[in-house]
Amino acid sequence: MGGEHQVVILGAGMSGLCMAIKLQKAGIDDFIIIEKQPGLGGTWWDTRYPGAHVDVPAPVYSFSFAPNPLWSRRFAAAPEIQRYMRRLAEEHGLLGKIRFATTLTSARFDDGLWHFETAGGDVLQAPFFVCSTGPLSQLRWPDIPGLDGFTSRRLHSARWDATLATPGQRVAVIGTGSTASQLIAPLARDAARLHVFQRTANWVLPRADRLYGPLDRALMRLPGYATLVRAGLSRVMELGRRGFEEGSLARRVMLKTAARHRARQVVDPSLRAKLTPTYPLGCKRIIYSNDFYPALSQPNVELVTDAIDRITPTGIVTADGQHRDIDLLVCATGFDTVHLLASLTITGPGGQTLADAWVDGPQAFHGTTVAGFPNMFLMLGPNTATGHTSTLLYIEPAADHAIACMQAVRAGGHRFIAVKPAVMRAHNEGLQQRLAGSVWSQCRSWYRAGTEGNGRIVAIFPGFTREYVKAVRRPRLAEDYEFDKAAEEIA
Ligand SMILES: Cc1cc2nc3c(=O)[nH]c(=O)nc-3n(C[C@H](O)[C@H](O)[C@H](O)COP(=O)(O)OP(=O)(O)OC[C@H]3O[C@@H](n4cnc5c(N)ncnc54)[C@H](O)[C@@H]3O)c2cc1C
Repeated sequence: MGGEHQVVILGAGMSGLCMAIKLQKAGIDDFIIIEKQPGLGGTWWDTRYPGAHVDVPAPVYSFSFAPNPLWSRRFAAAPEIQRYMRRLAEEHGLLGKIRFATTLTSARFDDGLWHFETAGGDVLQAPFFVCSTGPLSQLRWPDIPGLDGFTSRRLHSARWDATLATPGQRVAVIGTGSTASQLIAPLARDAARLHVFQRTANWVLPRADRLYGPLDRALMRLPGYATLVRAGLSRVMELGRRGFEEGSLARRVMLKTAARHRARQVVDPSLRAKLTPTYPLGCKRIIYSNDFYPALSQPNVELVTDAIDRITPTGIVTADGQHRDIDLLVCATGFDTVHLLASLTITGPGGQTLADAWVDGPQAFHGTTVAGFPNMFLMLGPNTATGHTSTLLYIEPAADHAIACMQAVRAGGHRFIAVKPAVMRAHNEGLQQRLAGSVWSQCRSWYRAGTEGNGRIVAIFPGFTREYVKAVRRPRLAEDYEFDKAAEEIA
C-alpha cells in the first residue's frame, strides 16, 4: 500500500463515506480510506444481530445529497442501510479507494505531514487526516466475575454470528438498552428459555413504523419529494429535542405516551413495575419499540432484575444465589464511548498523544478539531451524539467544516491549521455549563465519562440540530483557527 495522499480517511462508515463524497465534490480526489473490517458500512457492517434496524426514520438516515427511493419501510433494517451505503460507494467510484482489512495503528504529525502506520507495517503520509472511527465501534464487555470462564457460547451483540442457531437454546441477554430492545423479540421467538438481565428499566416509546409501498417509492423518485419528506421528518424529530426540557409540552406528551404504551403492552402489574423507569426520560437513549414489551411478556421469557453476582462455567448466579443454566450468553452491553480512538496512537507535533490530551475525558471544538492536533478532523467526535434525531444531520456539516479548513490551508499557502486552544477551552466550558443542569446530568449513562458512567458528559450535544449545523457548517477561520503555529503554541 503506502504512498502519499492529500487526505487519509480512517473508517468506511457513514462518516468516512460522506467525507469522501464531499471531498470529490470539492475537487479533492487524492484520498484513501483505511478500514479494518473486510467490508463497507462501519456500524452497519458490524451490526448483524437479528432484528437490527435504524431507530430514526430512514429518509432522515440518508444523506441530503443522496435520497434513497428504495427504502422498504420507515425504520429500515440494518442490511438495507448497508446496501444503501454500498450503492453510494459504487455510484461515486469509492470502492477502489478503500483499503479493507487494514488497521491503522498510529498517526504522527511531523513537519507539516501526518505519518501513518498500519498493523501490516505499511506507512503512508498525508497533510490532512480525517478520523472517522465512529463513536460506537469499540465493544464494551460487562465487568462481571467469571465472564471469561464461561464455557458455552458467548458473544457481544455487535459481533453477531449469522450461523448461530438459537432454537431450543437457553439464552441469556445481559442489558436492556437500544440493541437488546431490538434483539429480544427475535430471540424470544426461537429460544427455549430467554433470561433478560436488566440493571435499569429504560423509557420505551412506540415506533411509528410503516411499510413503504409502490406509491411511496414512485413519489420518492419525483424531483424534490424525497427532500421534502426528509425535511419534514427532521423537523418533527427536532420537536423531540424539546422533550428533554422539564415542563415542556413535548415532554408531557412523551411521558404520557410512554406510560400508556407500558400500560397497554404489559398486562402483568409486577412485570410492569419492573419495567417502569426510575430516572428522568431522555437521560439515557430512549427506546422506540413495539415488540420489546410483548416479547418480555412471553411465557418462555424471564426478566431478571436481581443483580448478577457472577458467571459460572455453565450459567449466571444472581445476588439471591439462584443459578440459571445457559447455553448462549449475549452481552448487549454497548460500546466504550469514553476511550474514543483508543485503538490507535495519535501524536501531535509536540509529541503529546491524544490519549494524554484526553486523560480527563475526550473534548474537541464542535466535536471536530482538537487543539494541538493540526490538520486533523474528527467525525462524530466528543459531544456530538444526539438523543432525538439522526447522526447523519451532524456528519454532513462536520465534513463541510473540515473541507473548508483544508481549502483555507491550501488557498492561503499555509501548511496547517489548528483550533486555538483558548477557543476550544471556552467552547467546552460553555457546553459543560449548559449540560450541568440538563436531563443528561441526572443519571449514569454512556454519554458520560468515568467507569461508573457518572463523570463529565462527553458524548451528547445539548442543543438543537439546527444550532449545531449553523455553528459548524462554515468555520470562523479568523476567530477560531490559526495557521502554521509552532508546536508549543498550539497545544
Ligand atoms: C446498533 C446501532 C444502531 C444505531 N442506530 C442509529 C440510528 O438509528 N440513528 C442514528 O442516527 N445513529 C445510529 N447509530 C449510531 C451510528 O454509529 C451512526 O449513525 C453512524 O453509523 C456512525 O458512522 P461512523 O462512520 O461515524 O462510525 P462507524 O460506523 O462506527 O464507522 C467507523 C469505522 O472505522 C473503522 N475503524 C475504527 N478504528 C479503526 C482503525 N484503527 N483502523 C481502521 N479502521 C478503523 C471501524 O471498523 C468502522 O468501520 C447506531 C449505532 C449502533 C451501534
